[in-house]
Amino acid sequence: MEQLENNARIEPVRLSEDSRFEFACDRENACFTRCCRGLTIVLTPYDILRLKKRLSLSSEEFLGLYSVPELLEKTDLPVPVLRMMDDEEKTCPFVREDGCLVYEDRPAACRYYPIGHGTLRPKEADATERFYFLVREPHCEGFKRRKSWTVAEWRRDQGVDIYDEMNQGWADLVVRKRSFPDMIKLTREAKEMFFLGSYNLDRFRRFVFESSFLSVYDVDDATVEAIREDETALMRFGFEWLNGVLFKQGRIMLNPEKARARMVAKDKAPAQPH
Ligand code: SF4
Ligand code: SF4
Repeated sequence: MEQLENNARIEPVRLSEDSRFEFACDRENACFTRCCRGLTIVLTPYDILRLKKRLSLSSEEFLGLYSVPELLEKTDLPVPVLRMMDDEEKTCPFVREDGCLVYEDRPAACRYYPIGHGTLRPKEADATERFYFLVREPHCEGFKRRKSWTVAEWRRDQGVDIYDEMNQGWADLVVRKRSFPDMIKLTREAKEMFFLGSYNLDRFRRFVFESSFLSVYDVDDATVEAIREDETALMRFGFEWLNGVLFKQGRIMLNPEKARARMVAKDKAPAQPH
């Protein structure tokens, strides 16, 4: 998850999990909820899963009501950005005088704040490296308080870990795409698949279970059962599917023989998202 703007507010010091900072955010600060305005919050797949459940909406309804599509910098990947209100301050739709209406299910970026984070994959390395930095905004009084945290303690306190764990497969896709030269562009179809497999979980479920998907992709029975019952399993399966579709990697691959047989039998192309 990345804040796409406001680079001027970012402290140019790279932090690790053990780095310390002093901060407290609560109603004692006169700035309480002031930060919930004018933000660019890129929503992650797990943000959407949590928020749509919280609001009793389908993923399509949530995306239509509360997000606008943008292209993620340096990746050309389509991502949903939380739609701010159309008022002067571009207020978050979930902020109220007494706090965040969806606090227990607030997006990962809101949990991390005032810490920003990023990932990079050093050349020739298999794994990505995560790094952190502080975002200091002039109106934020939290830095005047003397409560000390390590980055790891802050992450635990704010419930960030489960979000990062759930989004890991998706973050890997983003980092992999970012490592490609700029001139390698995704097709419109590939972008649509990325959006479907990352964010539109209810539509992705229909694609998997109501199209020819399971007759042309090799998916074992245990996985089929798991993704039928469990939304987080379905979401992570979507990341695996995208890894195969976009990068020809991973265990969820189109079986060419089955696809060919189906095309012959049905005289039409194999399953595509619709
Ligand atoms: S501006 Fe800073 S201290 Fe104030 S509510 Fe937002 S995060 Fe907390
Ligand atoms: S989701 Fe909640 S915490 Fe995040 S900006 Fe909106 S009101 Fe603030």
